[in-house]
Amino acid sequence: MQHARSQELFQRARQLLPGGVNSPVRAFGSVGGEPFFVERADGAFLYDVDGNRYIDYVGSWGPMIAGHNHPAVRQAVKQALGNGLSFGAPCAAEVTMAETLTRLVPSCEMVRMVNSGTEATLSAIRLARGATGRSRIVKFEGNYHGHGDSFLVKAGSGALTFGVPNSPGVPKALADLTLTLPYNDFDAATALFDEAGDDIAALIIEPVAGNANCLLPRDGFLQHLRELCTRHGTVLIFDEVMTGFRVALGGAQARYGVTPDLSTFGKIIGAGMPVGAYGGRRDLMSQISPAGPVYQAGTLSGNPVAMAAGLALLDVIQEPGFHDRLEAHGNALCDGLEAAARDAGVPFTTSRVGAMFGLFFTDAPKVDTYAQAVACDTAAFARFFHAMLDRGVFLAPSAFEAGFVSAAHDQQTLEATLVAAREAFALVRA
Ligand code: PLP
Repeated sequence: MQHARSQELFQRARQLLPGGVNSPVRAFGSVGGEPFFVERADGAFLYDVDGNRYIDYVGSWGPMIAGHNHPAVRQAVKQALGNGLSFGAPCAAEVTMAETLTRLVPSCEMVRMVNSGTEATLSAIRLARGATGRSRIVKFEGNYHGHGDSFLVKAGSGALTFGVPNSPGVPKALADLTLTLPYNDFDAATALFDEAGDDIAALIIEPVAGNANCLLPRDGFLQHLRELCTRHGTVLIFDEVMTGFRVALGGAQARYGVTPDLSTFGKIIGAGMPVGAYGGRRDLMSQISPAGPVYQAGTLSGNPVAMAAGLALLDVIQEPGFHDRLEAHGNALCDGLEAAARDAGVPFTTSRVGAMFGLFFTDAPKVDTYAQAVACDTAAFARFFHAMLDRGVFLAPSAFEAGFVSAAHDQQTLEATLVAAREAFALVRA
C-alpha cells in the first residue's frame, strides 16, 4: 500500500492541529504509525487519499450503522439542504425527531436535542444536580462520557476515594465531586451508596462499556444500580451515546430491561451529522429551560439538516430484522476471529452484543472488568491492528475501543476480514 499523500497531509496537519488531528484517538497514538486520510466512504468501505480501500469496523465511531453514504440519508440531507442550513427558530423536523425518540425509547418522555454526546452528558448531569440539589456524581472506571470536566476523572484506590483529575485543567474542586466505581462490581456500588448515597445527584454509566474495549454488564448489574439509585433518590443516567439504537432498537435499556431516569444519545441519531440528545422522565426534563430553571441552550441545536439525516437513518434501522441481522453478522465475525486466533496459537477472546464487539488479546476466556481489559496485551493488539490495516481492514486504532459492524458488511467483507485475520494472527504470534 502507498501512503505518500496521507503522510504529506499528516505532516502539514501536525504543524497546525494539535497532534495533527481534531480528536485524539485518530492520531494512532496507542498503536503507533500514522493515520490515513480519508477521501470518501461508501457502504462498508473507506477510501483513502492514496487510493487504498479499507473494510471499516469503526463506522465514524458509531453513526454508520447502515453503512457509509447510505442513499436514504444522502437523499434526506439533499432535500433538507434545499431549504437552508439553519434557522435559529423551531422547525418541524425537531418535533418529528422528538416523537421518534420518545417512541423508540419509552423511558424518554421528553427530549432535548444538542450537538454532541459530550453536550448530552454534560447537560444530563447539570439537570440531575439541579433537580436533586446535590453535587456529587458517580461514574465507572474506564467509562467515557465525553470530555466534560466532571467526567475526566478516573478511579482512585477505592469506591469512596475522591476523584483525581486525569487531565490538567480539570479543577480539583470539581473532580472531587466525581466518585468512581469499578464496572460490574456489585459490592463496591452497594458500599458507596451505603456511605454516600444520599449525597449523590446522579450515577452515569455506559450500560455496555464501549470505551474500555467492549465490556458487557454482568447479569443483574444494571438492575442493581437501578435499585440503589431508586433507594437513595439518585438520578440513574444511561449514557447510550454508543449503545443507543445499536445493541437493540431501544438501546441497552430495552435489551437489558432496566429503565433509567435520564438517557443520553449521539452518533446514530445524527447519522454522521453533529447531533446529541438527552431525555428521560417528564418531571425531570420539565426542569430544563425555558420550561424550568436548569439552563441549557444551543445555537445550532435541532439543526434541520442534522435532523433530516438522523430521521432518515432511524427509519432505516426500524426495518424488521435489522438488528438481528447485524447481531448475526457480529457473531460470525467474532467466532471467525476466535477460530483464526486459536489456529494461530494466539491467546485471544471477543465480546459482542448487537452491532458492537470487543477484541481481547488475553488468556482469560472472558473479559468483563476494566482491570481485565487493561491487563490485556496491548502490544499484540497494535501488531494485529497494523497487520489488518496493511491488508485493508480498519479496526479502531486503540485496544480500548469497541468495534462496530454495519448493515453494509456482508458475507464477502466477512470472508475478506477473516482471510486477513488469519495472516495477521500468524504475524502476532511470530
Ligand atoms: N458517551 C459515550 C458513551 C461515547 O462513546 C462518547 C463518544 O465516543 C461520548 C459520550 C461523547 O460523544 P461526542 O464525541 O459526540 O462528544
